[in-house]
Amino acid sequence: MATIQELLLWGKEQLDKSGNEYAKYERKVLLEEVLGCNYMYMLMNSTEEVSQEKEQQYQQLIEKRCGHYPLQYLLGYAHFMDYTFFVEEDVLIPRNDTEILVEFASKVIEKRMQEKQDLQVLDLCCGSGCIGISLKLYHKEIGLILSDLSSKALEVTKRNLDKYGVDATLVCDDLLQGIRSKVDMIVCNPPYIESRVIETLMPEVKDYEPMLALDGGEDGLDFYKKITEEAPKYLQENGWLIVEIGYNQGDAVSQLLRDHHFLEVAVMKDYAGLDRVVYGHL
Ligand code: GLN
Repeated sequence: MATIQELLLWGKEQLDKSGNEYAKYERKVLLEEVLGCNYMYMLMNSTEEVSQEKEQQYQQLIEKRCGHYPLQYLLGYAHFMDYTFFVEEDVLIPRNDTEILVEFASKVIEKRMQEKQDLQVLDLCCGSGCIGISLKLYHKEIGLILSDLSSKALEVTKRNLDKYGVDATLVCDDLLQGIRSKVDMIVCNPPYIESRVIETLMPEVKDYEPMLALDGGEDGLDFYKKITEEAPKYLQENGWLIVEIGYNQGDAVSQLLRDHHFLEVAVMKDYAGLDRVVYGHL
């Protein structure tokens, strides 16, 4: 039987060999997951022997990770904003980059609540639900609709709603088609990768994350074209549209919003200094 320390050493060695830059961190969280204890415990009990069953579980996780299976799918969760969301292969793994969208949307909600109490927010292409659920957790008073084309994704959304005891309407349909009432804000992180670029992405993404959540068509703009065209019909007066974009899509997406009569259209950068969010209102 191997000890905690031996497993950690072995884990790091394997992950290093696979070219994993975060081997030291990942070997630790995976063992924490298997043993159900924290790192402090492992350090203080490094010579403790681990049962054969747990050792095998750990080995399997490390091997999968060495094959570039995403860490968050192995763990079954991802951190986003102040929360932890369940993730499975059916949903995109929430990205830190998306937090800038939530922070901005949150400021807009705060301001708009001064004029209107019962704000309705729609998270389109919700996936895990990380955007909408975070917003609702920050602003309990808002009404929330979460929509996705994938019913499997919505099962994960539902688990996240239940986890945080959040009320929301779930809609399974293509973009805005299933929406029956007007809303005050649409937030959306649509698929926006150009089809031909997908092959060049890291294996974690291209081999394991849902294509449906990534592929934005030939120029990556398919969803923005549809959303900007349809959104005005579903937005209340002074309604906001806030979308995440790829680093090179700021001009094209801003133009689409302007073409569809959105006002004060602007692009926001993420913490890496790259264009990341476009917004405007009616
Ligand atoms: N809204 C989810 C996220 O931001 C899923 C987005 C998607 O599936 N394209 O992670």
